[in-house]
Amino acid sequence: MRTAVYPGTFDPITYGHLDVIGRGSKIFDELVVAVAESLPPIGPKGPAKETLFTVEERLEMIKELTGEFENVRVEHFSGLVVDYVRKKKTNVLLRGIRTVSDFEYEFQMALTNRTFAPEVETVFVMASQDYSFLSSRLIKEAASLGANLSSFVPPEVERRLKEKLKWLG
Ligand code: ADP
Repeated sequence: MRTAVYPGTFDPITYGHLDVIGRGSKIFDELVVAVAESLPPIGPKGPAKETLFTVEERLEMIKELTGEFENVRVEHFSGLVVDYVRKKKTNVLLRGIRTVSDFEYEFQMALTNRTFAPEVETVFVMASQDYSFLSSRLIKEAASLGANLSSFVPPEVERRLKEKLKWLG
């Protein structure tokens, strides 16, 4: 039985993430989508901002949207991702890759994780090119400007984004 862990912030989940989940679910016997509880205080683009959605909201949306996949589980984690992978008694970490700029960051992260946990292999999949430009950050920006998000996120996620932004004023 081969289990892979697909970690991320998923703030919120997009069609790009769902594409990676669909591909991962076909490769592995079991796929654990691991939602980061909070962002590390510093990231590749400087100090991290808070997430827009709480971990409960992010979990709820992902569970709703991945219900059709029988071998996908959705969980949350905090701390080092390789520690979580070990806790799941597996050694595969799944990540999605979009662009060359993603590659640079993902490459650094995979090698850093390898020094922490040499037995853990990071496996990359590419989403469909229709989604290769999608990022949660851009979607949040577009949402705040009132854009139509129907090609980027499922209707329920769009509804929640609009509701959240209304609340935030
Ligand atoms: P993180 O904050 O860990 O980068 P994200 O939720 O932004 O979390 O992304 C989780 C993973 O999904 C990353 O490997 C990221 O590259 C990948 N990913 C995000 N959007 C896409 C997309 N549109 N196509 C392919 N992979 C994607």
